[in-house]
Order: sequence, then structure tokens, then C-alpha cells
Amino acid sequence: MQITSKQEENKRTIRVPPPSSAAALRRMQAAKPKDTVPEITLRSAIHRRGLRYRVDTKPLNELNRRADIVFRSAKVAVFVDGCFWHGCPIHSTQAKANAEFWHAKIKQNQERDVDTNKRLAEAGWKVIRVWEHEDPEEASNKIYEIVKKRAEQTS
Ligand SMILES: [Zn+2]
Repeated sequence: MQITSKQEENKRTIRVPPPSSAAALRRMQAAKPKDTVPEITLRSAIHRRGLRYRVDTKPLNELNRRADIVFRSAKVAVFVDGCFWHGCPIHSTQAKANAEFWHAKIKQNQERDVDTNKRLAEAGWKVIRVWEHEDPEEASNKIYEIVKKRAEQTS
């Protein structure tokens, strides 16, 4: 079964019980929203600080991975990682039904995250990963500092 990266990124499904079959999973993912609450909150906090960015876009044209918030000129890519899908150390609740399937899925996501970080770093990008549980104000402060510093360096 193929799951696209955007589907992997679905952060709202952590609140619903895991599906008991592949068909149920597909149905669940088909109905998912594009933007999640943690993403939107973080974006508006960054926007208030005067930074402008692109949303849900590929930092590198040749690499088929989308970041949630992209600062092109500063080469900073922000990923808002869902606690369930990316295996947050604090909230990694283990699904009881189909535990093996979910474990493998989350592991696959984590490996992909590591690979994405590596490829972007090799291309001169700074990757910032924010857990969905993190305070948006604190996260936006961190992002602001990094983007500003890198913008100064490149200008
Ligand atoms: Zn978490």
C-alpha cells in the first residue's frame, strides 16, 4: 500500500482510533484536512513577527518532499511533525489494534525524516522540526532567530 507524504503528514488522525484495515485507513486519509491547527497557529505566530514564507511546498525542486513552512532566500525549511505519525518521545502512544502495522509505519516516517534532513542539509538548507505539541510562540521565536541570522549572512 502506497501512502503519500501528505497523507503521512495528517496530524488530526491521531485523535481518532486507528483503522482496522487498509481500506479503513484509505477512507480515513481521504477525508483529512490540508492544514492542521498546530501548523496554522505556528504560521500566524511567525507572520506576526514579520517573516514571510511559503506553505506546504518543496524546498528543493529535485527532491519530492514538502515542508510545512519554507523560507526560500534564507534556505530554512520547517516541518511540523505530528506526535503520533512521527513518534514523539512524549506522546508516542502505542496503538493496540494493528500495533505492528503502526509501529512499522511510524518507523518508516522517522527514517524518511532523517533522510529529508540529510538531503536538505547537503543542499545548504537548515531544517527545523517542531513537534505539534510544542508551544507555537516559543517555536516561532526560535524560527525567527534562525531565519533572521541566515538572511543576514546571505545578504
Ligand atoms: Zn508530542
